[in-house]
Amino acid sequence: MVDLSLLSPSRISIPLRTKLVLSTSVILIVACLLLGWLFIQQQVRSAAESLVQSGTLLAQHLARSGRFSIVAGDTHRLDQLIQEILAVNPVAYAAVIAPNGQCQSGAGKDTWQQQFSLQPLSPRQLSVTKLVRPRYLAAGTNDPLVSGIQLDNDVPALRSSVEFTAGELFSLIGGAELPIFYDILAQVPDRPLTDVRDPALLHALEERLDGHEEAGVLRNQPQAFVQVGLSTSHLQQVLRRLLWQAILITLGTLAGGLCVVVLLARRITIPLQGLTAAATKLAAGEAAPAVAMRTRDEIGTLTHMFNVMSAALQSREHELRELAHTLEDRVVARTQELAAANAKLQELDRRKSIFVSTASHELRTPLTAMKVHVANLRDGVDGAVSDDQRRSLIRVEANLSRLQILIDELLDLSQIEMGQTVLHLEPVTLGTLIEKTIEDLHPLTLERRVTIAVTLPPDLPSVSADADKLRRILLNLLHNAVKFTPSHTTVDVSATRVSNDEIRVSVRDVGPGIAPEDADKIFQPFYRTATALKHAKGAGLGLAIAKLLVELHHGRLWVDTGPGQGSCFSFTLRLAGSAELTSLPTGRVHQTVQS
Ligand code: ADP
Repeated sequence: MVDLSLLSPSRISIPLRTKLVLSTSVILIVACLLLGWLFIQQQVRSAAESLVQSGTLLAQHLARSGRFSIVAGDTHRLDQLIQEILAVNPVAYAAVIAPNGQCQSGAGKDTWQQQFSLQPLSPRQLSVTKLVRPRYLAAGTNDPLVSGIQLDNDVPALRSSVEFTAGELFSLIGGAELPIFYDILAQVPDRPLTDVRDPALLHALEERLDGHEEAGVLRNQPQAFVQVGLSTSHLQQVLRRLLWQAILITLGTLAGGLCVVVLLARRITIPLQGLTAAATKLAAGEAAPAVAMRTRDEIGTLTHMFNVMSAALQSREHELRELAHTLEDRVVARTQELAAANAKLQELDRRKSIFVSTASHELRTPLTAMKVHVANLRDGVDGAVSDDQRRSLIRVEANLSRLQILIDELLDLSQIEMGQTVLHLEPVTLGTLIEKTIEDLHPLTLERRVTIAVTLPPDLPSVSADADKLRRILLNLLHNAVKFTPSHTTVDVSATRVSNDEIRVSVRDVGPGIAPEDADKIFQPFYRTATALKHAKGAGLGLAIAKLLVELHHGRLWVDTGPGQGSCFSFTLRLAGSAELTSLPTGRVHQTVQS
């Protein structure tokens, strides 16, 4: 099963819906603020332009209408004209500045009224006039000059720009009334215009100009100006309304947008949650029902494909389960068959052992009798025999001996396999036992011209063993070693203590060695290597018997060998007085305690 903890998301996880809502909100806010700001800027500019335009028209009207009165010094008329201009709503003040720079006539409304009334008659130069006129002269233009004027504690000050700053717009939202004015300074034309509608003034002035020597001088005189101040109070009201509208529209758009985004996010996340729940069930190996397909878009397609995949997975799992059941049934059936076959084999093996045991036993007695008779014949007990007859009898005797050995081995093997071998455990002195065994092998070692060297530690304790069986084990191993090692070589027998309660006995020769593929098989009954089949006599039972006898002693028998490396057969034995050998699988144990 999949370990879900490995696939789980990192600790800090922001839900998709929150991410969508947050990101869209930021985009909406930025977009609304930007568009709102551009819109307000545009509106402010066009409102200001139209205010300036009307102020310019008023200033030009005053300049044209008051031209003759300025030249003629008709202050009364100028005052009348100024009063007419002041009657127009946004006009805060108006003034006429004579070519000599002095204020010929001027008046103001509200705050500005005080400004003009405080001025002494001569020189009547207003502070606002002093602020603006030098700029006009510096600009060197005939067009009206538009300036921003602000009253700081009723003192007019020139603004750096005509437009409202961002801070001023924000204070407008709060309801502040800003003392900001537009000042329009227009030049009075130096020539009479044809459309002047004041014939009396026109006549008087033309007469005076035509008949006057200074006419040219007058024309070249510095210019007169008219100055009109416009209140932005109405403009500010319009702006305030616009700003609030923009704010409300922004908030409305934001709220609407957020609702839409939340709905959209739900449409995306709800199917995803369904998919996640189903996938979690699938991963846990549970049955996952099909996820409802709510939309026909990519998420719908994903849901559909997930359902297809989930169905395929579940059907595979079902098939696998059925297959597992079938396999289990088959395994059970096969196991039963095998058990039956095994029981049959065991029965056959038992019968074979019984047969071998009986046959060997039955063969042994006549064979012993035959050996006695042949020996008597050979020795001439039953009458004289010729030399040829004796030689034949000796050969028969040798074959009878071989047959006897084979029968003995078969009988031993079948008895061990049938569990009829009884161990008489007693403390055995290994050195003495080895010496006796070597003596038994004396004819063979003599024949093969092989020496057996024994190496035992001086303090080697007695082992717990059945002396006859141990002698048999040693005899089989030493017999093989002497048989397979080349003549004039030495077979080494050694014993080493490997632990507190165990020793290892090894028999080493310098013979042909055994190939790795044969090393395990040689312990099976009747198995002989190709080398042995060619060069040595034997039935292939010696090692099988030795191994079973060692195991009866709760030891192990193994070989360290390789082709051309000689062989070293080793087995382990318990030391006398160590753990009792109480139960054995194929034999019985009788323990003899030495006093
Ligand atoms: P055998 O009567 O043939 O010696 P064993 O059971 O004693 O039967 O040995 C089985 C086979 O193991 C032998 O036929 C031989 O091929 C191999 N074998 C046993 N001992 C040795 C050894 N010391 N060197 C080489 N081969 C050996």
